Amino acid sequence: MNIVIFGPPGAGKGTQSNLIVKQFKLHQLSTGELLREEIKNKTELGKKISTIINSGNLVSDDTVGNLIKRYISDKTYKNRIIFDGYPRNLIQARNLDKLLSQYNQKVDIALKLSVSLEVIKRRILERKSLEKRADDSEEIAIKRFVTYENNIRPVIDFYKQSNLLKVVNGEATISEINIEISGLIEGIKG
Ligand code: AMP
Repeated sequence: MNIVIFGPPGAGKGTQSNLIVKQFKLHQLSTGELLREEIKNKTELGKKISTIINSGNLVSDDTVGNLIKRYISDKTYKNRIIFDGYPRNLIQARNLDKLLSQYNQKVDIALKLSVSLEVIKRRILERKSLEKRADDSEEIAIKRFVTYENNIRPVIDFYKQSNLLKVVNGEATISEINIEISGLIEGIKG
């Protein structure tokens, strides 16, 4: 089964994906993590994208499309991927369907973590003192939230239309959210 998890930056996608990966033996594909690795390793791509990421904007659809293709085309991960942070817009959602179907796969469930901007701000400021991510300032947090909101609406409709969308209250505790998500995944496993 392949899972898409989305929600505003700071919603806890990464935390929840980590838990689900262990419980259901999946592979986590976080485009944000992959991009940050590129920056850390000072690759050609990393140099190009660092300003974009640190200012809270999205990198190009082609860039992230190439990153996820590496995994979708790899048999090791077949039907075992949780997409964390992808798709971020309608073009990416369509591209994901196309790529998956090229490799005889599909999205089985799309989990939307709903969290308000107020809660996101609080969490990001807490995380800032722990991880020191370059894109973790309040101003950038707001920018990233607005970017997310503006791009994600058609993605929500896209998954709603195909009956794959499940909305989860992302303001509950980590374990409450985990229980809800696990139940939803169990449900589709049948
Ligand atoms: P995240 O860790 O998912 O919050 O992503 C961190 C940053 O990486 C985002 O603010 C974007 O700049 C970039 N990014 C991650 N995923 C995508 C994506 N699917 N499309 C475009 N940019 C992305």
